[in-house]
Amino acid sequence: MKITEVRVQTFRYRSRMVRDAHGHGHPGDEHDATQSLLTLTTDDGATGNALGSLTPAALRTVNEVVLGEDPFFHERVWNHLKERQRLNLGSLPDRVLTVVDLALWDLVGRVLGQPIHRLLGATRESVPAYASTMVGDDLPGGLDTPESYARYADWCVRERGYPAFKLHTWQPPLPGAPSVRHDLQACSAVREALGPDVPLMLDPFHYYSRLEALELAKGLEELKFLWMEEPMDEHSMSSYVWLCEQTALPICGPETVEGKMFSRAEWIRAGACDMLRAGVGDVGGITPLIKIAHLAEAFGMNMEVHGGGVGNLHVLCAMGTPGLYYERGLLHPFIDYDATPAWLNSPVDPMDSNGMVHVSAAPGLGLDLNYDYIRDNSVD
Ligand code: MG
Repeated sequence: MKITEVRVQTFRYRSRMVRDAHGHGHPGDEHDATQSLLTLTTDDGATGNALGSLTPAALRTVNEVVLGEDPFFHERVWNHLKERQRLNLGSLPDRVLTVVDLALWDLVGRVLGQPIHRLLGATRESVPAYASTMVGDDLPGGLDTPESYARYADWCVRERGYPAFKLHTWQPPLPGAPSVRHDLQACSAVREALGPDVPLMLDPFHYYSRLEALELAKGLEELKFLWMEEPMDEHSMSSYVWLCEQTALPICGPETVEGKMFSRAEWIRAGACDMLRAGVGDVGGITPLIKIAHLAEAFGMNMEVHGGGVGNLHVLCAMGTPGLYYERGLLHPFIDYDATPAWLNSPVDPMDSNGMVHVSAAPGLGLDLNYDYIRDNSVD
């Protein structure tokens, strides 16, 4: 079996999400947006899909590495792509490795008729979710005040059934942001609304100084938060060692720093985190993420998976080490996250009323694609 075609289809859909100057998503007016689907096809007609786009330069490299390969040698493909990143990181970022790796896992799962978590060695078929908010805004009744966060947290937990809640607070370019005081006011309002027992997490501004991050951590210790992630630039591992030494609050990371499993190993060795963190989109797919899960397991650490989506859900269902929650979002009071996207027939992360997200039993990733929609809205 050999891969004979790499195809990217781009299609249009209507979105209500707009991005601010720093790239954060917020609710906004409906507008046209695009999404892409990568499809790998073999000489005997088997296919594997993943959502994600490739630039022309990335597609050229992917073609060179992937065409003619046996899809069951996906570990070799991943390593070849990783090696090609040297001197070419601008055109071959980790998110390219992610979409190719996901499509390869989808392909082999579909050939074997098995979902990916079963191929990896399953430990469970559902995972508790936490509600993960968008960053703060100035939309009245949105995520504009500490009280608004408290009201929304109450709805997420008491009405929708989420067992845990994570705030992303106010960040630039919003006037007045960032602010340690304002962040702690929001965290305090949410704790007061939900009572002492609901697990809470904070993801604040990512460029606080050491002293600001410590002030935040001390406040969250008192509020009995489960973890804080990325309060400082993750390139300064020493700052995280410094922070971990001075707070009892669990620090979860690294999330966005480069280096795949290598940087995670260095963070553990340095004592720069209490819980490890990575997601398929951060490290280049399922192949490296499962290595990182095993790394955490060998050190007796939690590995809290960053971000949602099918790839992360399959890994969470195949982890022997604690991965407490599936990150569901990003959520906002003005957006119906449970609505199925136009390009799918069913959502990728259905959550029941007890806050459990169920992994698909369909072969491969289990993406329930609406091929008619994708064809009819193609912009190729
Ligand atoms: Mg984060």
